[in-house]
Amino acid sequence: MQTRDRLPRGSSDGRRAPAVDVVVVGAGPTGLLLAGDLARAGVGVTMVERRDRESNLSRAFAVHARSLEVLDARGLADELLRIGTPVPSLSPFGRITIDFSALRTRFPYMLVTPQWRLEHLLLRRAEEAGATMVRGARATGIRQDPDGVDVELSRADGAADTLRARYLVGADGARSTIRRSLGMPFPGESVISSVMLADVRLERAPDEALNFASNEHGFTFFAPFGDGWYRIIAWDRRRQLPDDAPVTLEEVRDITRRTLGDDLGMHDAHGSPASTATSDRCPATGGDGCSWRATPHMCTRPPAAWA
Ligand SMILES: Cc1cc2nc3c(=O)[nH]c(=O)nc-3n(C[C@H](O)[C@H](O)[C@H](O)COP(=O)(O)OP(=O)(O)OC[C@H]3O[C@@H](n4cnc5c(N)ncnc54)[C@H](O)[C@@H]3O)c2cc1C
Repeated sequence: MQTRDRLPRGSSDGRRAPAVDVVVVGAGPTGLLLAGDLARAGVGVTMVERRDRESNLSRAFAVHARSLEVLDARGLADELLRIGTPVPSLSPFGRITIDFSALRTRFPYMLVTPQWRLEHLLLRRAEEAGATMVRGARATGIRQDPDGVDVELSRADGAADTLRARYLVGADGARSTIRRSLGMPFPGESVISSVMLADVRLERAPDEALNFASNEHGFTFFAPFGDGWYRIIAWDRRRQLPDDAPVTLEEVRDITRRTLGDDLGMHDAHGSPASTATSDRCPATGGDGCSWRATPHMCTRPPAAWA
Protein backbone atom coordinates (compact mmCIF):
# COMPACT_ATOMS: atom_id res chain seq x y z
CA MET A 1 0.00 0.00 0.00
CA GLN A 2 1.31 3.44 -0.83
CA THR A 3 0.95 5.83 2.07
CA ARG A 4 2.50 9.19 2.74
CA ASP A 5 3.64 10.31 6.15
CA ARG A 6 4.99 13.52 4.68
CA LEU A 7 2.78 15.63 2.53
CA PRO A 8 3.66 16.67 -1.01
CA ARG A 9 4.56 20.36 -1.01
CA GLY A 10 4.63 23.19 -3.51
CA SER A 11 7.10 26.09 -3.71
CA SER A 12 7.35 28.13 -0.54
CA ASP A 13 7.71 31.61 -2.08
CA GLY A 14 4.52 33.63 -2.00
CA ARG A 15 1.45 31.62 -2.78
CA ARG A 16 2.50 27.99 -3.00
CA ALA A 17 2.03 26.13 -6.25
CA PRO A 18 -0.48 23.30 -5.93
CA ALA A 19 1.34 20.12 -4.95
CA VAL A 20 -1.28 17.88 -6.52
CA ASP A 21 -4.10 18.27 -9.00
CA VAL A 22 -6.84 16.97 -6.72
CA VAL A 23 -7.12 16.25 -3.02
CA VAL A 24 -9.94 13.89 -2.12
CA VAL A 25 -10.88 14.20 1.54
CA GLY A 26 -12.36 10.93 2.81
CA ALA A 27 -11.48 7.39 1.73
CA GLY A 28 -14.92 5.81 1.95
CA PRO A 29 -16.53 4.26 -1.14
CA THR A 30 -17.19 7.67 -2.76
CA GLY A 31 -13.68 9.06 -2.32
CA LEU A 32 -11.95 5.82 -3.27
CA LEU A 33 -13.99 5.33 -6.43
CA LEU A 34 -13.43 8.92 -7.54
CA ALA A 35 -9.71 8.83 -6.71
CA GLY A 36 -9.36 5.68 -8.82
CA ASP A 37 -11.27 7.20 -11.74
CA LEU A 38 -9.20 10.40 -11.65
CA ALA A 39 -5.89 8.58 -11.31
CA ARG A 40 -6.73 6.29 -14.21
CA ALA A 41 -7.48 9.40 -16.28
CA GLY A 42 -3.96 10.66 -15.54
CA VAL A 43 -4.90 13.20 -12.87
CA GLY A 44 -2.60 13.49 -9.84
CA VAL A 45 -4.64 12.54 -6.76
CA THR A 46 -3.92 12.49 -3.06
CA MET A 47 -6.51 11.03 -0.69
CA VAL A 48 -6.67 12.28 2.88
CA GLU A 49 -8.24 9.95 5.45
CA ARG A 50 -8.60 10.51 9.18
CA ARG A 51 -8.42 6.79 9.96
CA ASP A 52 -4.85 5.63 10.35
CA ARG A 53 -5.52 2.21 8.82
CA GLU A 54 -8.02 0.36 6.69
CA SER A 55 -11.13 -0.44 8.68
CA ASN A 56 -12.35 -4.02 9.06
CA LEU A 57 -15.62 -2.79 10.50
CA SER A 58 -18.61 -2.11 8.38
CA ARG A 59 -21.62 0.11 8.07
CA ALA A 60 -23.11 -0.98 4.76
CA PHE A 61 -23.69 -4.69 4.42
CA ALA A 62 -25.30 -4.83 0.96
CA VAL A 63 -24.35 -3.64 -2.51
CA HIS A 64 -27.34 -2.88 -4.69
CA ALA A 65 -27.80 -3.70 -8.39
CA ARG A 66 -27.04 -0.18 -9.61
CA SER A 67 -23.87 0.01 -7.51
CA LEU A 68 -22.80 -3.34 -8.96
CA GLU A 69 -23.37 -1.95 -12.46
CA VAL A 70 -21.19 1.07 -11.65
CA LEU A 71 -18.49 -1.28 -10.34
CA ASP A 72 -18.90 -3.57 -13.35
CA ALA A 73 -18.18 -0.67 -15.71
CA ARG A 74 -14.79 -0.49 -13.97
CA GLY A 75 -14.14 -4.25 -14.05
CA LEU A 76 -14.66 -4.62 -10.29
CA ALA A 77 -18.00 -6.39 -9.92
CA ASP A 78 -16.87 -9.97 -10.54
CA GLU A 79 -14.30 -9.91 -7.76
CA LEU A 80 -16.95 -8.68 -5.35
CA LEU A 81 -19.41 -11.34 -6.55
CA ARG A 82 -16.89 -14.04 -5.68
CA ILE A 83 -16.85 -13.02 -2.02
CA GLY A 84 -20.44 -11.80 -1.52
CA THR A 85 -23.78 -13.54 -1.00
CA PRO A 86 -26.52 -12.74 -3.56
CA VAL A 87 -29.96 -12.25 -2.03
CA PRO A 88 -32.77 -12.31 -4.64
CA SER A 89 -35.55 -10.95 -2.42
CA LEU A 90 -36.09 -9.32 0.92
CA SER A 91 -39.14 -9.36 3.22
CA PRO A 92 -38.55 -6.52 5.63
CA PHE A 93 -42.01 -6.37 7.18
CA GLY A 94 -43.47 -9.82 6.68
CA ARG A 95 -46.25 -8.80 4.32
CA ILE A 96 -43.96 -6.75 2.05
CA THR A 97 -41.49 -8.54 -0.23
CA ILE A 98 -38.98 -6.75 -2.42
CA ASP A 99 -38.24 -8.98 -5.41
CA PHE A 100 -34.88 -8.03 -6.90
CA SER A 101 -35.05 -10.89 -9.42
CA ALA A 102 -37.45 -8.79 -11.52
CA LEU A 103 -34.79 -6.13 -12.13
CA ARG A 104 -33.53 -5.87 -15.71
CA THR A 105 -29.84 -5.99 -14.94
CA ARG A 106 -26.93 -8.40 -14.92
CA PHE A 107 -27.28 -8.28 -11.12
CA PRO A 108 -30.92 -9.06 -10.21
CA TYR A 109 -30.22 -9.30 -6.49
CA MET A 110 -28.71 -7.52 -3.52
CA LEU A 111 -25.14 -8.62 -2.79
CA VAL A 112 -24.40 -9.00 0.90
CA THR A 113 -20.80 -8.10 1.61
CA PRO A 114 -19.35 -5.73 4.18
CA GLN A 115 -18.43 -2.21 3.17
CA TRP A 116 -14.77 -2.70 4.12
CA ARG A 117 -14.38 -5.34 1.41
CA LEU A 118 -15.62 -2.94 -1.23
CA GLU A 119 -13.36 -0.22 0.16
CA HIS A 120 -10.39 -2.58 0.03
CA LEU A 121 -11.06 -3.28 -3.65
CA LEU A 122 -11.47 0.40 -4.50
CA LEU A 123 -8.33 1.38 -2.58
CA ARG A 124 -6.25 -1.19 -4.42
CA ARG A 125 -7.56 0.09 -7.77
CA ALA A 126 -6.86 3.73 -6.86
CA GLU A 127 -3.33 3.02 -5.66
CA GLU A 128 -2.52 0.84 -8.64
CA ALA A 129 -3.52 3.78 -10.83
CA GLY A 130 -1.11 6.06 -8.94
CA ALA A 131 -3.27 7.78 -6.34
CA THR A 132 -1.54 8.28 -3.00
CA MET A 133 -2.99 8.20 0.50
CA VAL A 134 -2.32 10.36 3.55
CA ARG A 135 -3.67 8.43 6.52
CA GLY A 136 -4.27 9.56 10.08
CA ALA A 137 -4.93 13.14 8.95
CA ARG A 138 -8.22 14.93 9.57
CA ALA A 139 -9.19 17.82 7.31
CA THR A 140 -10.21 20.66 9.60
CA GLY A 141 -10.81 23.50 7.16
CA ILE A 142 -10.09 24.93 3.73
CA ARG A 143 -9.00 28.22 2.15
CA GLN A 144 -9.65 28.92 -1.52
CA ASP A 145 -8.02 31.38 -3.92
CA PRO A 146 -8.08 31.68 -7.73
CA ASP A 147 -5.19 29.21 -8.17
CA GLY A 148 -6.16 26.45 -5.81
CA VAL A 149 -7.18 25.41 -2.36
CA ASP A 150 -5.34 24.85 0.92
CA VAL A 151 -6.60 21.99 3.05
CA GLU A 152 -5.78 22.28 6.73
CA LEU A 153 -4.97 18.96 8.33
CA SER A 154 -4.66 17.80 11.89
CA ARG A 155 -2.60 14.68 12.58
CA ALA A 156 -3.43 12.12 15.25
CA ASP A 157 -0.48 13.41 17.32
CA GLY A 158 -1.93 16.94 17.15
CA ALA A 159 0.51 18.24 14.52
CA ALA A 160 -1.00 20.65 12.00
CA ASP A 161 -0.23 20.59 8.28
CA THR A 162 -1.47 22.14 5.06
CA LEU A 163 -1.87 20.47 1.69
CA ARG A 164 -2.33 22.57 -1.43
CA ALA A 165 -4.15 21.33 -4.52
CA ARG A 166 -5.75 22.71 -7.65
CA TYR A 167 -9.05 21.15 -6.71
CA LEU A 168 -10.57 19.62 -3.62
CA VAL A 169 -13.31 17.00 -3.38
CA GLY A 170 -15.15 16.56 -0.10
CA ALA A 171 -16.02 12.86 0.19
CA ASP A 172 -15.94 12.90 3.96
CA GLY A 173 -19.34 11.43 4.65
CA ALA A 174 -22.62 12.61 6.09
CA ARG A 175 -21.06 14.88 8.73
CA SER A 176 -18.67 16.38 6.19
CA THR A 177 -16.23 18.98 7.47
CA ILE A 178 -15.72 20.18 3.90
CA ARG A 179 -19.44 20.71 3.40
CA ARG A 180 -19.61 22.71 6.63
CA SER A 181 -16.54 24.73 5.64
CA LEU A 182 -18.37 25.71 2.46
CA GLY A 183 -21.50 26.61 4.41
CA MET A 184 -23.60 24.04 2.57
CA PRO A 185 -26.67 22.65 4.37
CA PHE A 186 -27.60 18.96 4.62
CA PRO A 187 -31.41 18.97 4.75
CA GLY A 188 -33.21 15.99 6.22
CA GLU A 189 -34.61 14.77 9.48
CA SER A 190 -34.13 12.11 12.10
CA VAL A 191 -37.32 10.16 12.65
CA ILE A 192 -36.08 7.33 14.82
CA SER A 193 -33.22 7.42 17.27
CA SER A 194 -31.16 4.99 19.30
CA VAL A 195 -30.78 2.43 16.52
CA MET A 196 -28.25 -0.17 17.64
CA LEU A 197 -25.69 -1.70 15.32
CA ALA A 198 -23.45 -4.57 16.29
CA ASP A 199 -21.30 -7.19 14.62
CA VAL A 200 -21.89 -10.48 16.42
CA ARG A 201 -21.36 -14.20 16.16
CA LEU A 202 -24.34 -16.58 16.34
CA GLU A 203 -24.61 -20.19 17.48
CA ARG A 204 -27.63 -20.79 15.25
CA ALA A 205 -27.88 -19.31 11.75
CA PRO A 206 -31.12 -17.43 11.02
CA ASP A 207 -33.66 -19.16 8.73
CA GLU A 208 -33.13 -16.76 5.85
CA ALA A 209 -30.02 -15.11 4.41
CA LEU A 210 -31.38 -11.73 5.45
CA ASN A 211 -33.57 -11.95 8.49
CA PHE A 212 -35.91 -9.15 9.52
CA ALA A 213 -38.29 -9.32 12.47
CA SER A 214 -40.52 -6.54 13.71
CA ASN A 215 -43.43 -6.23 16.13
CA GLU A 216 -44.72 -3.86 18.79
CA HIS A 217 -41.37 -4.05 20.63
CA GLY A 218 -39.22 -2.77 17.75
CA PHE A 219 -37.21 -4.53 15.06
CA THR A 220 -34.10 -6.60 14.47
CA PHE A 221 -32.32 -7.26 11.21
CA PHE A 222 -29.50 -9.74 10.57
CA ALA A 223 -27.18 -9.86 7.57
CA PRO A 224 -24.39 -12.45 7.24
CA PHE A 225 -20.90 -11.28 6.29
CA GLY A 226 -20.00 -14.82 5.20
CA ASP A 227 -17.07 -15.15 7.60
CA GLY A 228 -19.07 -16.26 10.64
CA TRP A 229 -19.96 -12.70 11.63
CA TYR A 230 -23.39 -11.12 11.36
CA ARG A 231 -24.39 -7.48 11.27
CA ILE A 232 -27.38 -6.83 13.49
CA ILE A 233 -29.37 -3.62 13.33
CA ALA A 234 -31.90 -3.34 16.13
CA TRP A 235 -34.32 -0.82 17.56
CA ASP A 236 -36.05 -1.13 20.91
CA ARG A 237 -39.08 1.11 21.12
CA ARG A 238 -38.93 1.19 24.95
CA ARG A 239 -35.22 1.87 25.24
CA GLN A 240 -34.22 5.21 23.76
CA LEU A 241 -30.73 6.31 24.78
CA PRO A 242 -28.37 9.03 23.52
CA ASP A 243 -26.04 8.08 20.65
CA ASP A 244 -23.00 8.08 22.91
CA ALA A 245 -24.50 5.52 25.33
CA PRO A 246 -22.62 2.23 24.89
CA VAL A 247 -24.51 -0.72 23.39
CA THR A 248 -24.43 -3.88 25.47
CA LEU A 249 -24.71 -7.38 24.11
CA GLU A 250 -27.50 -8.05 26.60
CA GLU A 251 -29.76 -5.30 25.27
CA VAL A 252 -29.22 -6.48 21.68
CA ARG A 253 -30.02 -10.04 22.80
CA ASP A 254 -33.09 -8.85 24.64
CA ILE A 255 -34.69 -7.02 21.71
CA THR A 256 -33.79 -9.94 19.42
CA ARG A 257 -35.62 -12.36 21.73
CA ARG A 258 -38.67 -10.09 21.92
CA THR A 259 -38.93 -9.56 18.14
CA LEU A 260 -37.60 -12.85 16.73
CA GLY A 261 -38.45 -15.15 19.65
CA ASP A 262 -34.84 -16.42 19.83
CA ASP A 263 -31.49 -14.71 20.39
CA LEU A 264 -29.80 -17.28 18.08
CA GLY A 265 -27.07 -17.85 20.66
CA MET A 266 -25.62 -14.40 20.04
CA HIS A 267 -22.15 -13.77 21.44
CA ASP A 268 -18.90 -11.85 20.95
CA ALA A 269 -20.38 -8.47 20.15
CA HIS A 270 -17.56 -6.48 21.67
CA GLY A 271 -14.61 -8.75 21.13
CA SER A 272 -12.42 -10.05 23.87
CA PRO A 273 -8.68 -10.39 24.26
CA ALA A 274 -9.30 -14.01 25.23
CA SER A 275 -10.61 -14.82 21.77
CA THR A 276 -8.23 -14.45 18.87
CA ALA A 277 -11.08 -14.41 16.37
CA THR A 278 -12.77 -11.48 18.01
CA SER A 279 -9.67 -9.61 19.08
CA ASP A 280 -8.50 -9.64 15.46
CA ARG A 281 -11.67 -7.99 14.44
CA CYS A 282 -12.52 -5.85 17.43
CA PRO A 283 -9.66 -4.41 19.42
CA ALA A 284 -10.68 -4.49 23.07
CA THR A 285 -9.28 -1.01 23.62
CA GLY A 286 -8.92 1.96 21.32
CA GLY A 287 -10.04 2.23 17.72
CA ASP A 288 -13.60 1.47 16.76
CA GLY A 289 -15.86 -0.66 18.89
CA CYS A 290 -17.89 -3.42 17.30
CA SER A 291 -21.21 -1.99 18.32
CA TRP A 292 -22.63 1.46 18.42
CA ARG A 293 -25.80 3.49 18.61
CA ALA A 294 -26.94 6.01 16.06
CA THR A 295 -29.67 8.40 15.10
CA PRO A 296 -29.89 8.07 11.32
CA HIS A 297 -30.23 11.37 9.48
CA MET A 298 -32.72 10.61 6.75
CA CYS A 299 -34.09 12.47 3.79
CA THR A 300 -37.10 10.19 3.53
CA ARG A 301 -39.43 8.80 6.16
CA PRO A 302 -39.29 5.09 7.07
CA PRO A 303 -42.57 3.14 7.26
CA ALA A 304 -45.09 4.66 9.65
CA ALA A 305 -45.07 1.42 11.65
CA TRP A 306 -41.65 2.38 13.06
CA ALA A 307 -42.62 5.76 14.42
C1 LIG B 1 -25.70 1.57 9.55
C2 LIG B 1 -25.59 1.84 8.10
C3 LIG B 1 -25.89 0.83 7.20
C4 LIG B 1 -25.80 1.07 5.83
N1 LIG B 1 -26.09 0.07 4.97
C5 LIG B 1 -25.96 0.26 3.65
C6 LIG B 1 -26.15 -0.81 2.74
O1 LIG B 1 -26.44 -1.93 3.14
N2 LIG B 1 -25.99 -0.57 1.42
C7 LIG B 1 -25.64 0.67 0.95
O2 LIG B 1 -25.51 0.83 -0.27
N3 LIG B 1 -25.43 1.70 1.80
C8 LIG B 1 -25.58 1.53 3.12
N4 LIG B 1 -25.34 2.54 3.99
C9 LIG B 1 -24.92 3.83 3.45
C10 LIG B 1 -23.45 3.78 3.11
O3 LIG B 1 -22.70 3.34 4.23
C11 LIG B 1 -23.02 5.19 2.71
O4 LIG B 1 -23.83 5.61 1.64
C12 LIG B 1 -21.57 5.21 2.30
O5 LIG B 1 -20.72 4.85 3.35
C13 LIG B 1 -21.23 6.60 1.83
O6 LIG B 1 -19.90 6.56 1.39
P1 LIG B 1 -19.01 7.84 1.45
O7 LIG B 1 -17.67 7.46 0.91
O8 LIG B 1 -19.73 8.97 0.81
O9 LIG B 1 -18.90 8.24 2.99
P2 LIG B 1 -18.29 7.40 4.19
O10 LIG B 1 -18.41 5.95 3.98
O11 LIG B 1 -18.87 8.00 5.42
O12 LIG B 1 -16.74 7.73 4.13
C14 LIG B 1 -16.25 8.97 4.52
C15 LIG B 1 -14.79 8.80 4.87
O13 LIG B 1 -14.27 10.08 5.17
C16 LIG B 1 -13.48 9.99 6.34
N5 LIG B 1 -13.55 11.31 6.95
C17 LIG B 1 -14.62 11.89 7.54
N6 LIG B 1 -14.31 13.14 7.94
C18 LIG B 1 -13.02 13.34 7.58
C19 LIG B 1 -12.14 14.45 7.72
N7 LIG B 1 -12.54 15.60 8.28
N8 LIG B 1 -10.88 14.33 7.27
C20 LIG B 1 -10.46 13.16 6.68
N9 LIG B 1 -11.25 12.08 6.52
C21 LIG B 1 -12.52 12.18 6.96
C22 LIG B 1 -14.13 8.90 7.17
O14 LIG B 1 -13.20 8.33 8.09
C23 LIG B 1 -14.55 7.91 6.09
O15 LIG B 1 -13.54 6.97 5.80
C24 LIG B 1 -25.41 2.34 5.36
C25 LIG B 1 -25.10 3.35 6.27
C26 LIG B 1 -25.18 3.10 7.62
C27 LIG B 1 -24.83 4.20 8.58
